[in-house]
Amino acid sequence: MRSHYCGQLNETLVDQTVTVCGWVHRRRDHGGVIFLDMRDRDGIAQFVVDPDTAEAFANADRARSEYVLRVTGRVRLRPEGTQNPNMPTGMIEVLAKEVEVLNAAATPPFQLDEHGKVGEEVRLKHRYIDLRRPEMIEKLRLRSRISHNVRAYLENQGFLDIETPVLTRATPEGARDYLVPSRTHAGSFFALPQSPQLFKQLLMVAGFDRYYQIAKCFRDEDLRADRQPEFTQIDIEASFVSEDDIMSITEDMIRQLFNDVLDVELPAFPRMTWHDAMQRFGSDKPDLRIPLELTDIDDLMKQVDFKVFSGPANAEDGRVAALKVAGGASLSRKVIDEYTKFVGIYGAKGLAWIKVNERAKGIEGLQSPIVKFMENVVEELLDRVDAKDGDIIFFGADKASIVNEAMGALRVRIGADLDLYTHEWAPLWVVDFPMFEADGNGRLSPLHHPFTAPACSPEALKADPAAALSRAYDMVLNGTELGGGSLRIHDQTMQSTVFDILGIGEKEAREKFGFLLDALHYGAPPHGGLAFGLDRLVMLMTGATTIREVIAFPKTQSAACLMTDAPGDVSAEQLKELNIRLRQKAKADASE
Ligand code: ASP
Repeated sequence: MRSHYCGQLNETLVDQTVTVCGWVHRRRDHGGVIFLDMRDRDGIAQFVVDPDTAEAFANADRARSEYVLRVTGRVRLRPEGTQNPNMPTGMIEVLAKEVEVLNAAATPPFQLDEHGKVGEEVRLKHRYIDLRRPEMIEKLRLRSRISHNVRAYLENQGFLDIETPVLTRATPEGARDYLVPSRTHAGSFFALPQSPQLFKQLLMVAGFDRYYQIAKCFRDEDLRADRQPEFTQIDIEASFVSEDDIMSITEDMIRQLFNDVLDVELPAFPRMTWHDAMQRFGSDKPDLRIPLELTDIDDLMKQVDFKVFSGPANAEDGRVAALKVAGGASLSRKVIDEYTKFVGIYGAKGLAWIKVNERAKGIEGLQSPIVKFMENVVEELLDRVDAKDGDIIFFGADKASIVNEAMGALRVRIGADLDLYTHEWAPLWVVDFPMFEADGNGRLSPLHHPFTAPACSPEALKADPAAALSRAYDMVLNGTELGGGSLRIHDQTMQSTVFDILGIGEKEAREKFGFLLDALHYGAPPHGGLAFGLDRLVMLMTGATTIREVIAFPKTQSAACLMTDAPGDVSAEQLKELNIRLRQKAKADASE
């Protein structure tokens, strides 16, 4: 139907006749001459229709925004003074000879270039219109290039693309499952996979050696953060590998991807232990573009006569940390109040600070509501954080988990507010994670998932599970976790020990993971892998601010699709077939 995409038209085609198909982006009536900006997925080009071509003119005249047209005409240079060097097609226009209306369009719920004026709900409800915006097309185009590049890299490295089931049993990754009722097995349910974890491990037992899949994963979790109930992973697993093998293959993959798609040479990926990351940055995904660090001052604050600090400094699970911001003494009271509120979100009860106005003057040169309580240690404190005139020091004192979260977040916030970024891209590996974390009730849960190999023997693990480290690794970029993985347990005794520590009894383990435990004693090779969050990766690479912008049809924060109205009601008949009676329905029936 067409000879060119709109975006392909340029000066090299002058005097040629071209045909495009697309949407009316804008239509302007300039007293007798009609200008049509035609748009397709490749770009926008200007068409001019004059009244000499009567039929074309009449069709252009009735065309409105978002009408679908087929237009044929001759390319010519735009007259001097009307050229638009900011547009790829801005040097030319097409004098239309034929304009055919392929389809009319109702007035769209918003003009594409005025999308900012309507709420996201309107855009999500009419996502097919929102996706016509050139920025959205660009993001999805880049997404396609990214997955293509990743596939090509992995295929080259001998990885096989193997699909794993979506109707399956639960694969625990720490979220709730999405369940699907079985019609043929009354009262039984499939779970949608939280990841292909178990299947990729079984593929290793089967001997496939190197597997990958760009896989949909489903997690029914709180969507407070920028998450989606279904999202996409680049899922990877390999046999007979060490941590270093997996890290080097996947680091190369990301390095090549950035090179090919963004023309960016990523810097070296330093490795940092989880412990160091928490101590220095209060986070297991530190943003290393920001040159601010937390400094431990527990030992100093043990000695002060100020309960707010000495309490946590002396408590086993407490922490007192300082965050020095060079030049921060100029922060206003209002900003400090805002930061105090901000750390409150993370559970901090306050935000103490010292401004260093003139260090040479000792205490006199400091300005702070708390310095009077710590005169005995203040010089040592200033030395430790290397305070200079004009700096501010913020303090966090509480349970270590609260201090880390609050001060870690404050560090990132200040980095952004004061634009302290020193690099554009700061990747790293975080390694040596603890095997387990304790919930409030002293119960242990896996920090990654229960198939992660510990870095010690089953005996040592049993003796002190809380102290055990795992053979897991996370790749972090600019404060975002791009992906994570580990070497896996390939030994049945070890797997049973981990289930045991997690309080998963033998019966439950058999019921839930019997097939894995069986497989582990039929010749399971040592193996490991990693999964990247594709949506997050694309978000970072496109500069988008939420993952919803890089997913064609995302769900809302309440896990609904506004366009299709899913999740939706189902008929009584369907429910009956599935052997399901709804609670509310049952009540309604009973009262009939
Ligand atoms: N299955 C893990 C996850 O989804 C990734 C991995 O361990 O390979 O986080």
